[in-house]
Amino acid sequence: MSEKFNPATAIQDLKQFGEFGDVNPSITDSATYTFLKEDTMIDAFHGAAQGCFLYSRHWNPSNKYLADALAAMEGTEAAWVTASGMAAITTAILQCCNAGDHIITSVTTYGGTFAFLNNYVKKFNIDVTFVNIENHESIIEAIRPNTKIIYTESMTNPMLQISDLPKLAEIAHQHDIKLIVDNTFTPMIISPFKLGADIVVYSMTKFINGKNDCVAGAICASAQFINDISDVNSGTAMLLGPVLDPMRSSSILKNMATLHIRMMQHSKNALYLAEKFKGLGIKFNYPGLPDHPQYELFKSQMNEGYGMGGLIAIDLETAERAAPFMEMMQEKGVGYHAVSLGYFKTLFSNSGKSTSSEVPEDIQKEMGLSPGLVRFSVGLDMDIERTFNLIHECLAELKFV
Ligand SMILES: *Cc1c(COP(=O)(O)O)cnc(C)c1O
Repeated sequence: MSEKFNPATAIQDLKQFGEFGDVNPSITDSATYTFLKEDTMIDAFHGAAQGCFLYSRHWNPSNKYLADALAAMEGTEAAWVTASGMAAITTAILQCCNAGDHIITSVTTYGGTFAFLNNYVKKFNIDVTFVNIENHESIIEAIRPNTKIIYTESMTNPMLQISDLPKLAEIAHQHDIKLIVDNTFTPMIISPFKLGADIVVYSMTKFINGKNDCVAGAICASAQFINDISDVNSGTAMLLGPVLDPMRSSSILKNMATLHIRMMQHSKNALYLAEKFKGLGIKFNYPGLPDHPQYELFKSQMNEGYGMGGLIAIDLETAERAAPFMEMMQEKGVGYHAVSLGYFKTLFSNSGKSTSSEVPEDIQKEMGLSPGLVRFSVGLDMDIERTFNLIHECLAELKFV
């Protein structure tokens, strides 16, 4: 393990002291910063003053500590932290595209991302081709001279499809296209930059923070790209201003220190449920079981030791069957009937009716998204056997098993 890239060790190796030797760097509770010399301020505005902070929409020391931890985790040169996952996604995309450009994206992505690409970028006359990200031929066929981005999620929402990142990077780079990967579902498990992605985006709202007490996001990329997005004259982040509050950065940084332990427990519990669901003979999806068609692809891309992820979905075929099942699970204490993921309690929702409701029903059907798909973000339960028994009771009472 020592020779291989290890995201948890990369974070633990950071020495991030505050100015008083504080083991948790102090929070810089300031929007602006004083300069002793006018010349230094002028240099700072031209990006030429090293180590100077200018204004907190541009950079804040607390955000820098968190960004450094994210860059260490991804193995990228730099990172920038945003006020939400959508802010990270939209900033990264808009930085790469001009009006009239073209984007190729996986059709299965987070609902907000789908809506942004399907509806919003039309404002800029940006054309988007939606593909099945497993069909590499269709991606190659979709490439145009003005294609700027191939966009995907390492594990897609909510189909839990695994993207072949080295292959996608190869296709992208042959045509001078950037590969942007949303790694929200699999932090530490997959390191997209190490597999060839140019830009890695996150909703930190989910596993990275893991507390469901805020929304936040991150962009991890080359120092050049991070400089570009924060450029005072032309940077998308600097000019649209989706910066994260430093108080939040400070609290998320502390939660990152336990991310590896949480990922292991989420994965362990999800694998337990997957094996039990298999035993029940119900229809479910978990790419971490050896008989899953993408298991080998997943294994070939993952860092060892963090498991196969905390997301699992069961298919009850109709929304009418999913509804009472979810209500009963909440009553019995399985977890919460809520969107989002990566929380210490188990969360579940009907994807087609919630986080993918932005995707029109005909496209949901085309991507194989069942109207009865219940997505679970499995919690950190100590006694997962008990949790399974509660789920089993619900399935049995509703006569689904
Ligand atoms: C939640 C989520 C987002 C959006 O993040 P916000 O923090 O809610 O803005 C993007 N991508 C994925 C995969 C998500 O799960």
